[in-house]
Amino acid sequence: MLDFFKKTFGRVKSSAGGFIHSLLSPSIDESSIKSIKNIFLASDFGVEVADEIIGEIENNLKKNKELSRENVIHTASMILKKTLQGAEATLDMESQKPQVICLVGTNGSGKTTTAAKLAYFYEKLGQKVLLGACDTFRAAANEQLSSWGEKLSLDVIASQHGADPAAVAFDSYKAAIARGKDILILDTAGRLHVKANLMAELQKIFRVFRKANAQLVLNVWFVADGTLGGNTMEAAKTFHSSVGLSGLIVTKLDGTSSGGALVGIYKNLRIPIYFIGTGETPESLEKFSADKYVAGIFSPNGKRKN
Ligand code: GDP
Repeated sequence: MLDFFKKTFGRVKSSAGGFIHSLLSPSIDESSIKSIKNIFLASDFGVEVADEIIGEIENNLKKNKELSRENVIHTASMILKKTLQGAEATLDMESQKPQVICLVGTNGSGKTTTAAKLAYFYEKLGQKVLLGACDTFRAAANEQLSSWGEKLSLDVIASQHGADPAAVAFDSYKAAIARGKDILILDTAGRLHVKANLMAELQKIFRVFRKANAQLVLNVWFVADGTLGGNTMEAAKTFHSSVGLSGLIVTKLDGTSSGGALVGIYKNLRIPIYFIGTGETPESLEKFSADKYVAGIFSPNGKRKN
């Protein structure tokens, strides 16, 4: 089955890498500081982090008239790693059964695909996974998840288009218990006519779980489109203030985007980052590693070193 995916979607895994490296000139002095500023401001790390990097480079320039590209990259890498300290999430597969992971986020960010990838990831670790298709709003979402389920032999609870997502969540939870599943992963809708409707729908899903099991710790993971920069930051803030997020997954880090928004989101919201999405195949999901992420941003050829 993996061959099918590789043939259909396979492409070279390349990361956010390279883009900053290729923009920096081999040596940097006072005259290039403006362009350096623009590079880091455009990186989506957020103004605060970009300012911190630029300030440190300016300090170094006071001591040395000229800096090498490697020196600038070292400075920026150190600041990014410091900013991302504590960001690597620890997987918890012990504390409750079933674990419930609810994926939320804006339309098209990659929730449905990530739900399938996550299920595939956990099954490979020997966990028994059930998928719940709670995005009953987008007509194709149910079928999309069910078709992933068929291709990867994963259990999916789906309902009809327009069904109550909270009812699907409830049925999925009951089924997960009845079938002895270790993990239940719920895909949810990303767009309703009004933002308030979407948040109310998510809150209703969460109420169902609280009613079913008051002790249940619900994992609410925001699936962020890594290519969208500042918009992703705004969306993350809105979801966090409305429904409370406990984790982050950043998708589409296989393209040319730096995925820099990840840094800003973590700095602002302090939500641990679980995974990054690096493609459309089931296995293109990686545990987030701050070191690897930072190295990818500055690697000369843009290839992730896996
Ligand atoms: P949803 O609306 O949030 O459920 O988003 P989907 O899961 O339908 O994904 C939207 C599009 O993004 C689809 O074409 C996916 O194949 C694509 N996608 C999701 N994750 C990734 C990723 O990590 N890399 C790439 N290149 N595409 C992705």
